Amino acid sequence: MLYRWEDIKSKIKSKTKSLRSLKVRIFILLLLVGLIPSYFMKYGILQNYETRAISVRVSEVQAQLKIIANHLITYSYLQDTSSPVINAELEQLSNLYGGRVLIISGNLKVVKDTYGISEGKTIISEEVVKCFRGESMSNYDAALGYIEMTIPISETVNVELPETGEVTEKEIVRGVMLIGISCDTIHKTMDILSNKASILQLIMLVIIFGGALLLSHFLVNPLNKVTTAINEVAEGYSDKAINVPDYVETVHIIDAFNQLLGRMKVLDDSRQEFVSNVSHELKTPITSMKVLADSLLAQEDVPVELYREFMEDIAKEIDRESKIITDLLSLVKMDKKVTDMNITEVNMNELTEVILKRLRPIARKRDIEVTFESIRPVKATVDEVKISLVLSNLVENAIKYNKENGWVKVVLDADHQFFTVTVSDSGVGIPEESIAHIYERFYRVDKSHSREIGGTGLGLAITRSAVLMHRGSIRVESTPGEGTSFIVKIPLTYKA
Ligand code: ADP
Repeated sequence: MLYRWEDIKSKIKSKTKSLRSLKVRIFILLLLVGLIPSYFMKYGILQNYETRAISVRVSEVQAQLKIIANHLITYSYLQDTSSPVINAELEQLSNLYGGRVLIISGNLKVVKDTYGISEGKTIISEEVVKCFRGESMSNYDAALGYIEMTIPISETVNVELPETGEVTEKEIVRGVMLIGISCDTIHKTMDILSNKASILQLIMLVIIFGGALLLSHFLVNPLNKVTTAINEVAEGYSDKAINVPDYVETVHIIDAFNQLLGRMKVLDDSRQEFVSNVSHELKTPITSMKVLADSLLAQEDVPVELYREFMEDIAKEIDRESKIITDLLSLVKMDKKVTDMNITEVNMNELTEVILKRLRPIARKRDIEVTFESIRPVKATVDEVKISLVLSNLVENAIKYNKENGWVKVVLDADHQFFTVTVSDSGVGIPEESIAHIYERFYRVDKSHSREIGGTGLGLAITRSAVLMHRGSIRVESTPGEGTSFIVKIPLTYKA
């Protein structure tokens, strides 16, 4: 069957995906750690047995051959091979070890071959020649399962040394025994051993497989517990802090998650509070309008003046509602962290003049004097609309929360990095306990007064957001009954 390339690719993908699982990796690791030593053990035991068995066999046969070699000399077998005792011994040896014995005389002639094939032939082999020099050898041919060895047939004779006339014993090699024995029995034992080891290995494989399966499951289980606990929170079954103390690592993950959960809870609470505040604020003007309209409808023959008066009140409430909505929209725009800032070079002196010109008529109504002191010309790259909101909100507040015949002073200054706008007033001031809250949405020191003068409680929240979006800072100094100063510091060049 032909596989399509896509099929093969998806198969490889799913294979590598399962390999990325910690459980699979631990399982494979445990399996390897368990199995590799067992394979080495089997190989080591068999190898060790083979070398030991061969060396035992060699020394056993050598010992017997030495005895026979002595008998060969005693019975002068090299000269006459008819000795039934020796022939029986040789026969027995070759039967016992499943081998062949050749007896070679001094002139390299084979005098006896237990297979009866090579008798009378001459053998010129390196091993035999070496053995005549006294070097016996044994060779194991693992591939053929065969051991070959040579043993000298030597006689001890008394020799008189010509120089001193002393008589000493000397070994003279009269012949060589060349023997080949089969290692079938050793190999059979090895086969049996190997079979037994394989069965043992199979049993171990099953045990290790099961053990690795269980262990990998238990080792990875705490991580699964973490996932389940996080999923429960994600699916909304629980919003409690979770706890998986099995590993230090899981404790760290859970700690980080709980912190995130805490932050999300705070955000969620503040969002809920915001929504309920918004609903409340939007409902207030509507309730007033409903009351005004109902009271008009409840009366018959309402004079036109009363209608006019009530309609003026309703129009005011509509203005309020629309101001709240405008402010909310500005706030939402500021809240979007990625809002595209529209950065341009702005002449701050001119901008401040324009804003003050717009606000002076309102100030004049309450005889409040608005002055502007420009320490130096300031050009800054900022978002003009947002900075206008900052300035107008601050100056509007300075006028709104001021006394009759009061004053508002705006000072513009700059250094090489920042420009500073200070808006000071001779107004009511802000009580110390309220200072921490004035930037909160819908917070007002005196709710009813603020509402009366058209405040929404959103102005400073918008101002602060706009300042922060420019990476600036805002600070307030206030003495209740004497006045307030807001100091805004913004970088001359906007950096995203
Ligand atoms: P509002 O729309 O009510 O003016 P803001 O967010 O602009 O809302 O201001 C929040 C509150 O801070 C105001 O209600 C007022 O009590 C206080 N506040 C702001 N500016 C001044 C100021 N210059 N002098 C005294 N109080 C102020």
